[in-house]
Amino acid sequence: MQDFVQLLSDDFNNIFFVNGERNGSYPYSHSLLIGDYLIDTGISSGYLKKLKKQYPINHVLLSHWHEDHISGNHLLTNSKFLCHEKDKLPIEDIEKMLLYYNVENTVEGKEFSAIFGLYGMKNTHVSKYFKDDEIISIGDNLRLKVIFTPGHTAGHCGFYEMNSKIAFLGDMDLTRFPYYTTIDSNLMEFENSIERLKTLDIEIAIVGHRDPVIGNSNIKNELTNFKSAIQKRDERILSNLFEKKPIHPMDLKGKNLIYKRYTYENFEVISEIVMIEKHFEKFLKENLITIKDDGYILT
Ligand SMILES: [Zn+2]
Repeated sequence: MQDFVQLLSDDFNNIFFVNGERNGSYPYSHSLLIGDYLIDTGISSGYLKKLKKQYPINHVLLSHWHEDHISGNHLLTNSKFLCHEKDKLPIEDIEKMLLYYNVENTVEGKEFSAIFGLYGMKNTHVSKYFKDDEIISIGDNLRLKVIFTPGHTAGHCGFYEMNSKIAFLGDMDLTRFPYYTTIDSNLMEFENSIERLKTLDIEIAIVGHRDPVIGNSNIKNELTNFKSAIQKRDERILSNLFEKKPIHPMDLKGKNLIYKRYTYENFEVISEIVMIEKHFEKFLKENLITIKDDGYILT
């Protein structure tokens, strides 16, 4: 067995955690190999080439369209690809990612396209779109349930194997940095998806960018912490709004309200504005703010 491939349970000889290169930090991510199904392909091209030599990969399930989860698709030309229909566009046509990141025809967009070149990414032919609650039978003993968890992207899905209680949660990734920065992200859906995941009886949670989380109560705690990181952002943003002076999300540009510091400044300042807009959307829906002139005031 390769050192980046790890059997997850002694009771199931065909469920493996596949540790992404650089421990799954961006631009890589972790995968789950379950029978001949691989979930996500961002482990790195080197790892993927080694993996497919040793294990048959006949099907690929994509948790969502982000480049760090689908970058290896082009190396699995003999596999059938499946994703949620709401995420199909940028998977089938990767140039659409620029539109989704709101960087079409910009310098940042050009930098981004250069990254695609680096990955050697290509458009993917998707054979089938899976649906919420659909159960995929794998071998004699595994039943993998699709858990639709939108918010991070419009079609983001997790997967829950019902016998082993092992789940793959993708970028509902239980880090300190919940991420809802593409134009198809939705913060209210994101929070509802966290609540939905709390209702599942998960024993091992595999996520995109950190080590597996073991134990049902640990997983529930981590989901609570994940949500409270969003609530802290709510508070920080609300403390910059007023009862009389209208504020527009663009007025909060570059103020580090979400990123403590900017590592890739051009890109992260744009991301931050997109995320702040999602908070405004939520505040408006919850009647915490109202529109005034060309901005928003506290209600
Ligand atoms: Zn993502």
